Amino acid sequence: MRKPLIAGNWKMFTGPSAAESLSLALKTTLKDCNWADIVVCPPFTSISAVVSVLKNTAIEIGAQDTFWESEGAYTGEISPVMIREAGCGWVIIGHSERRAHFGESDQTVFKRVNAAMKAGLKPIVCVGETLQQRDSGITEEIVKSQLLGGIGEIRAISNLTIAYEPVWAIGTGRTATPRQAQDVHNVIRTIISEKWGELTASAARILYGGSVKPDNAGDLWQEDDIDGFLVGGASLNADTFSRIIESAK
Ligand code: PEP
Repeated sequence: MRKPLIAGNWKMFTGPSAAESLSLALKTTLKDCNWADIVVCPPFTSISAVVSVLKNTAIEIGAQDTFWESEGAYTGEISPVMIREAGCGWVIIGHSERRAHFGESDQTVFKRVNAAMKAGLKPIVCVGETLQQRDSGITEEIVKSQLLGGIGEIRAISNLTIAYEPVWAIGTGRTATPRQAQDVHNVIRTIISEKWGELTASAARILYGGSVKPDNAGDLWQEDDIDGFLVGGASLNADTFSRIIESAK
């Protein structure tokens, strides 16, 4: 039985003061949550404020990206070791916004995942097709190549979570149907099973992301291979994020 995992990606929203308020609200609304693992991923500059509020709670903290070197002359970058030291246990890697705007590729995803795991961070690795790719009937092929390109060379993936995020569903209000999501989650679990074995595949948590809201979460939970959500917009409000987490009960 896989414990549900719900992660909130706050993207480039919430400076330290707004992040502190949101964390305080979540600390109250989610204080009794023992049915799901919860992770919030604020922008780098708000991590410290969020850690201060959530340090003795069950809500864990993640970063939204990481560089692969531990330290050095890499102006503007943040290393996995620094992220760990700041109080994070998790990191999102390969989000489609980073692939689209910042040249993230499967090769750089691999370097980041490898470095994050060495630093003791748990990566949430994002894969997903564009609308054009879906319409061309190559969703499975794209997801498979992103998955194997990004994590195929990682030997043990038990600390790693995959998020299936169809690009056309992110921030658009257009969610994949439960059937569409389940089909791709099933493909991902099969690939994991072929590469890392059945035991690893049955324990792996595969999240769905793309316009998840309190009113569509319930139907998505009905699917066998959906183990949680990576939530963007709806994670910026304590009430809607908490209602999504409630739906996992
Ligand atoms: C995301 O940023 O990963 C995401 C899924 O965003 P949204 O929920 O807003 O579609």
